[in-house]
Amino acid sequence: MIEREPAMHPVNGATTLEHPWVNADATLALLSAIAAREGVPLSAAQIDQLARYRNLLLDWNARFNLTAITDPLEVERRLFLDSLRLLPAIDQFTSDQSSPRLLDIGSGGGFPGLVLKIARPALDVTLVDATGKKVRFLQEVIDRLGLDAAQAVQARAEELGRDERYRDAFDLVAARAVAPLPILLEYAMPLLRVGGVGLFPKGLDLAAELTTGSRAANLLGARIESSATLPGEETRLVVVRKAKPTPAAYPRRTGLPTRAPLGTPDGAATGRRERRRAGSSASPPMSARAVTSARDAS
Ligand code: SAH
Repeated sequence: MIEREPAMHPVNGATTLEHPWVNADATLALLSAIAAREGVPLSAAQIDQLARYRNLLLDWNARFNLTAITDPLEVERRLFLDSLRLLPAIDQFTSDQSSPRLLDIGSGGGFPGLVLKIARPALDVTLVDATGKKVRFLQEVIDRLGLDAAQAVQARAEELGRDERYRDAFDLVAARAVAPLPILLEYAMPLLRVGGVGLFPKGLDLAAELTTGSRAANLLGARIESSATLPGEETRLVVVRKAKPTPAAYPRRTGLPTRAPLGTPDGAATGRRERRRAGSSASPPMSARAVTSARDAS
């Protein structure tokens, strides 16, 4: 067996061989303090769950490259805190519901959906990602933390939007760092119930996306309600309400929302063609592959 010195964490001085970069008992003190200051206090049990989640993420990331962020403090600040900053909006839009359903599109390592689930256990959370290894990681965290009412699904958002088990099914849809607004709206709006709300954290420079985004919203039966800057001054949260049913032509087939985004000249041309297609033959329902089948296949 190779002997090696325990490495020392530069900030908290922790020494452990299993996770040389982090003390497994660390309390995410910084995150906890900022969250409390911003009005989203976390319980000791939630901090403990976040610490275990962070350690699993760092562990898997060393092998599977789940996220470019590998520094434990950056995980806390950029991934966890960024996700937690959606909580006031989540609370505002779910105050009258006991177990609201949230879908996180392109969840990746679980941001924001899995962090929100830890902070608000009453949420029924579905995390969807197109990549199998990310979905296997998400399922691992769900299992290890023993989370109820949390599902990880391997699928493309466009497939879910044509699957009757998911279409019109969610009270909230979130997506972080996945695509420009018009594309996100075409993914998300078919999946929301009428009256449901999409929450999309974005950078500060949003003017162009808001212009194409509002045209896209119009086509999809939705409207952009606000795009306020969140605490930390690095993010604007775009809030989009589904006002009426999304036409059956949307989402267009896989790949088209990205190639010809709604609200752009390209999108307008393909939109007309797709509506003709949809009018002549309705798209067959497609089923999402659950994580279990993704596991069986690997
Ligand atoms: N939301 C996470 C991950 C962002 S990376 C975070 O904030 O860190 C974008 C993720 O979206 C990738 O994991 C990619 O696999 C997924 N993705 C991109 N387009 C998708 C689509 N159409 N359907 C499902 N997942 C998608």
